[in-house]
Amino acid sequence: GTGGLGDTLIPAINRIQDIFSQVRIDFTPDLPQVAVVGSQSSGKSSVLEALVGRDFLPRGPEICTRRPLLLQLVKSSAGGSKQQDGIDWSKKQSASEWGEFLHCPGKRFYDFDRIRQEILNETERTVGHNKGISEKPIRLKIHSPHVLTMTLVDLPGIAKVPVGDQPSDIEKRIRKMVLEYIRHPTCVVLAVSAANADLVNSDALELARVVDPEGRRTVGVLTKLDIMDKGTDASAMMRNQIVPLRLGYIGMVNRSQMDINMKRSIRDAGAAEAAFFETHPEYQEVKDQCGRGALAKSLNKVLVEHIRASLPSLRARLEEALDKSNTELRAYGDAPPGQTSAARGALLLQLLDSYAVRYSEMLDGRSEHLP
Ligand code: GDP
Ligand code: MG
Repeated sequence: GTGGLGDTLIPAINRIQDIFSQVRIDFTPDLPQVAVVGSQSSGKSSVLEALVGRDFLPRGPEICTRRPLLLQLVKSSAGGSKQQDGIDWSKKQSASEWGEFLHCPGKRFYDFDRIRQEILNETERTVGHNKGISEKPIRLKIHSPHVLTMTLVDLPGIAKVPVGDQPSDIEKRIRKMVLEYIRHPTCVVLAVSAANADLVNSDALELARVVDPEGRRTVGVLTKLDIMDKGTDASAMMRNQIVPLRLGYIGMVNRSQMDINMKRSIRDAGAAEAAFFETHPEYQEVKDQCGRGALAKSLNKVLVEHIRASLPSLRARLEEALDKSNTELRAYGDAPPGQTSAARGALLLQLLDSYAVRYSEMLDGRSEHLP
């Protein structure tokens, strides 16, 4: 498990998310999401991949992420397989893991290299071959026994100088797009900065501060700890002494471009990261902030807090949307019972209520499971 409460809480929220998507009332739920922000090439896509544990995002030294990617991770049962520790991560395919794009419904991608290719193809379909960008998201669902159920958003990085087909105001446009995603109070911001650059110049921290000045939903991530200048390390940043963040920083070592070119597996990369922290005594004091496992734990904790805090307002907004939808329905006359959006909405409200009750029971230690 990855941390008790969150293991049950977050799947429940994703279930709510699924129900919401079926209720066709005019209502966009602000359910929790985790978005990565930062400069181009700071390592955002690498951080997401480390979290997912699979290799499927386009990454590289140039602009790769040119449209937002909404990635819903769904933890599925392992299907009776007892190979939890013996997974061959180098294998590209596994029957229990697949991806599905909203733009090709029903088609299961078992090969993660093909998922990456489809992200690239779908990107090019909208924005062409020459580095153009668009705010229109690509939606991908990944089913796997090895992920935490949550929704992640990969965003284009901040770039200052336009290249290729990019408009002259590229920086402004990307900023606007990113802010649009992270301004929602239910969005947890993973602010990714490369540790080999000056933290006070971090685009990630600057963007996060615009939407979350008190740092209630910003988790700092420092990447590239392995390629810092000789004689420097990230321990002072991680001890919160340079740019303090309320929720602090997690330090990471992800794959270098050479590792990617040599097709080093994510599993190997995870082992290399662990070895890095073991052999660098300067990180001893902050060892619970080191590596992908620490990031998953920290995110889980933040999400749980977040969900708790947002339930009441979620309910209020849903009720409001339902009221509106009912009024409109009355204007059109009666629809068959049970088939209207309003009926589905009412069901959803009921569900939300029972979740809310269970949450408080769980938090008081009276119950372990959600309906
Ligand atoms: P993004 O543009 O922010 O999504 O960044 P990417 O994840 O695409 O990474 C940009 C480049 O930095 C790639 O070539 C990665 O291999 C490299 N990179 C990312 N994280 C690390 C790290 O922790 N260490 C090293 N050495 N290279 C990294
Ligand atoms: Mg990227």
